[in-house]
Amino acid sequence: MHTAPRELTRPPAAPPQGLRITPLGGIGEIGRNMTVFEHAGKLLVVDCGVLFPEESQPGIDVILPDFTSLESRLDDIEAIVLTHGHEDHIGGVPYLLKQRPDIPVVGSQLTLAFLSAKLTEHNIKPVLVHVEAGDRHTAGPFALEFIAVNHSIPDGLAVVIRTPAGVVLHTGDFRMDQFPLDGRLTDLRAFGRLGEEGLDLLLVDSTNAEIPGFTISETELTPAIDQVFTTTPGRVIVSSFASHVHRIQQVLDASHARGRKVAFVGRSMVRNMRIARELGYLTVPRGLVIDYAKTRNLPPNKVTLICTGSQGEPMAALARMAGETHEVRISDGDTVLLASSLIPGNESAIYGIINKLTDLGANVVHKGNARVHVSGHASAGELVYCYNILRPRNVMPVHGEPKHLRANGALAERTGVPTDNVLIVRDGVVVDMVDGVARIVGQVENDLVYVDGQTVGHVTEDTLADRRKLSAAGVLTVLAFLRSGTAELAEPLEYLHRGSVHGQDSLDNASRAVEKALADATRNKTTAGDQLEDIIAKTVARSLARSSRREPVVIAVVLDA
Ligand SMILES: [Zn+2]
Repeated sequence: MHTAPRELTRPPAAPPQGLRITPLGGIGEIGRNMTVFEHAGKLLVVDCGVLFPEESQPGIDVILPDFTSLESRLDDIEAIVLTHGHEDHIGGVPYLLKQRPDIPVVGSQLTLAFLSAKLTEHNIKPVLVHVEAGDRHTAGPFALEFIAVNHSIPDGLAVVIRTPAGVVLHTGDFRMDQFPLDGRLTDLRAFGRLGEEGLDLLLVDSTNAEIPGFTISETELTPAIDQVFTTTPGRVIVSSFASHVHRIQQVLDASHARGRKVAFVGRSMVRNMRIARELGYLTVPRGLVIDYAKTRNLPPNKVTLICTGSQGEPMAALARMAGETHEVRISDGDTVLLASSLIPGNESAIYGIINKLTDLGANVVHKGNARVHVSGHASAGELVYCYNILRPRNVMPVHGEPKHLRANGALAERTGVPTDNVLIVRDGVVVDMVDGVARIVGQVENDLVYVDGQTVGHVTEDTLADRRKLSAAGVLTVLAFLRSGTAELAEPLEYLHRGSVHGQDSLDNASRAVEKALADATRNKTTAGDQLEDIIAKTVARSLARSSRREPVVIAVVLDA
């Protein structure tokens, strides 16, 4: 495996006959997937998703790929191709289209429908290009072909990108379920044809590369899901991604068989299921789905509720039910079915919710105690099959944390891809492919771009460091009354606490340190208020860190006595 060096310079000009590949997200993390392809001065974007924040990123809604390197090139973008409708593949599109709304967006029917619903909320009218598996489409110098792939959302596509520089396959997210609920298989025959044609570069999903064997089929879950509906004396409350149409179909079928009525709860769930139903991806028997309000008149064992929040998102319906702030009140006899994978980073939030729901009397069924969910990603066995069928010259594992990428790279090597041709990169690393040889040539901007409320990119790593400090040690305001025009204290310092707690000794130490610092300031003739505030705040922070090992956010205010 060839791993990108830690330090890389800016890339040279793109090679005129070559293909440049720049991942701007999704490499080194699970989320915000985005890859930019460049040929003959034109750009093609594949996916543009969001990453969900971790607990160490408080107050953040979502995290975007870094578009900085595209800012001067927006007019060169021929299209945005979307492989499927998950948030980590489409969630960033509104933010890119805000910069240039008329970039054509290419994708399958359900993907574009989910995107359109999202863009309506952002008041953007997109230029949509609808394609299906087997279709070909030309975007500038990029000849595209779309291949059906099976994933945990219907209508997934892998994309073949042909340029004079060679043939590339980007798998998107996929697995090889041989008995999918909708009968739509990953098209291995198309993979085979591509292998015969000669594949120069494979960008391949790494999420489950560490998991040996094969991801089990969706259909194998049916008995465990049915069991829940048969044995639950109260309501069944199912929490799932609002895009997991197949799992929700299973829940609808199981409910129907047991004479339960179903209500969708939560805005995104109601919206997406309406779309999926209208487009024929969800089959709903007449009269099965009713409004939540009507379920109150039914016996609990005749009710199924389907809501979001399976990742522990604090504002989603499930977390609010657990916190008893939702109109749906959990009670004895209810079963909560978590039909989802645990996305790394969300574990503690989800375990917290499971415990709260249990305390409220619910029986919580999840992946850890019943076979009620299966991943949407190919395990190692499936990946090896793909390598052997596709026989790629070069491989770039994508969609995964570093450990997933390396595991995937190792699989590629085991199937005979030369070690120098397996590139382990990270977001922002630039790869050029010329004459069938792919090489790392540099790096562009690759910061995490934080969305917080209406702001994009205003929150920095420093802001987050302050927020973490605030949550751990609170804020301490220091009032310093100085003789006008001097750095001399007229009165002892005053401390105002908000969420911060310190012993008197620590504060006395801090006050003595400030007196010394102000004496130094007097000698240096420093009298400007903002400079003195800075000196006082830093001195207090340093002193408290030493004496009490606490690091509150310290704000100093200088006032004339
Ligand atoms: Zn996905």
